[in-house]
Amino acid sequence: GYDAFLIKPVQQSELLNMILKVTANPSGIGGKAKAVDGTTAPLSGTGRKVLLAEDNAVNRRLAARLLEKRGCAVMPVTNGAEAIELWARENVDLILMDVQMPVVDGLEATRRIREKEEGSGAHVPIIVLTAHAMKGDRERCLEAGADDYLAKPIVPAMLAEVIDRYLASGEAKDDHAESVSVPSPEQPFDPDALLARVEGDRTLVGEMVSLLDGEAPAL
Ligand code: MN
Repeated sequence: GYDAFLIKPVQQSELLNMILKVTANPSGIGGKAKAVDGTTAPLSGTGRKVLLAEDNAVNRRLAARLLEKRGCAVMPVTNGAEAIELWARENVDLILMDVQMPVVDGLEATRRIREKEEGSGAHVPIIVLTAHAMKGDRERCLEAGADDYLAKPIVPAMLAEVIDRYLASGEAKDDHAESVSVPSPEQPFDPDALLARVEGDRTLVGEMVSLLDGEAPAL
């Protein structure tokens, strides 16, 4: 009759995640939950369906986990064609769309979804994930019909900001954070920076390394 279980040794982040999951109010869209450390953790994603289109397994796992931690129900797909198909079938609250994907790329998929929406009055927020982070990228994304874009690698705080902006309020703001961190050449691997990107979740790092191990040889 219990609602959840944890495997020992208990990880702080897993425990917090589990508590938030178990105590989450399913109808509490936009609600705030008190985190264990006393800070207010935004859970604006609670119960919202997020379609995640990303062909890279490592990025997909990272984005999915960060979204799940904010209460989102994540529907992952690996290319633009699958994204269009799933969007047509499901009532999706938000789409995170990678640009470079096989079969149909993210910008083309965005255009096709906007075409299909035309005349229906519907408008699903589409956030494009781009590895380019160059000038002109935002314009290309917006031209295709995206609402916003996030530069990869994904920064948890910026993803959270997008979730808050597009899921909690349901309305878009025009200001946009432009900060992109660049790895320092002196220290190509920075353990603190890595942990910051996964909100201290070492289990997630392990999963991502395993996924990379499986994918890298083929790449
Ligand atoms: Mn890609």
